[in-house]
Amino acid sequence: MIPLVLISAVVLGIAFLVYASYNVSSNVYVNAFCRAKTTRKVVALTFDDGPHGENTEAVLDLLSAKKVPAAFFCIGSKAETQPDVVRRMVRDGHLVGNHSYSHSAKFPVFDVDRMVADIAKCNEVLEEITEEKVLFFRPPFGVTNPLLKKALKSFEFDVVGWSVRSYDARAGETVESVVERITKRIEPGSVILLHDRLDDSEEILRRVLQWLADNEYEVERADRLLGLPSVED
Ligand SMILES: [Zn+2]
Repeated sequence: MIPLVLISAVVLGIAFLVYASYNVSSNVYVNAFCRAKTTRKVVALTFDDGPHGENTEAVLDLLSAKKVPAAFFCIGSKAETQPDVVRRMVRDGHLVGNHSYSHSAKFPVFDVDRMVADIAKCNEVLEEITEEKVLFFRPPFGVTNPLLKKALKSFEFDVVGWSVRSYDARAGETVESVVERITKRIEPGSVILLHDRLDDSEEILRRVLQWLADNEYEVERADRLLGLPSVED
């Protein structure tokens, strides 16, 4: 008979490793910047998985109209086919970060060499388009593990996570449910995860910006909110 205490320890250990892998803010494997310590009413907006044609353009139009800066963690294979949208992000004053080239569902279990190659290819694409060094990385799916920890040793990124996850891309969500989830969790220093690839991306952003204005919150670019070195520094 295996003692119950040992079984409990193993179950707890596995639960911890799963938690550590799927929570970008756990900081067990990779040190990710996920929120700012501040009492100021200020947040950062971050968008993953673009660029995505008209949906991204609509988000950019709205950010531009409201004069709000954001960070876009782009997928290299998509950036490659839509360089104009990425160029516009930079021109509009937004931050462009690396979110891997393939964003493959298998990315978290790629071997280290393949992970490095995938991340490096995304850098190559983005740097060619933006003519700027890529300083920031966000892991696909927010998954961090020992493989990614090793892979990131080949780069000098600051890893940016989030503290407010919108689940805006989850099936069955509505604009209302997403906005409610986000606004309930906002606090000074929050980094909010959104996506610019959805048909509802612009509407969600519009309502979040309205909530932020109504509650006297300001929006800062993620690198500035988190006190990280910027391209311009
Ligand atoms: Zn993603």
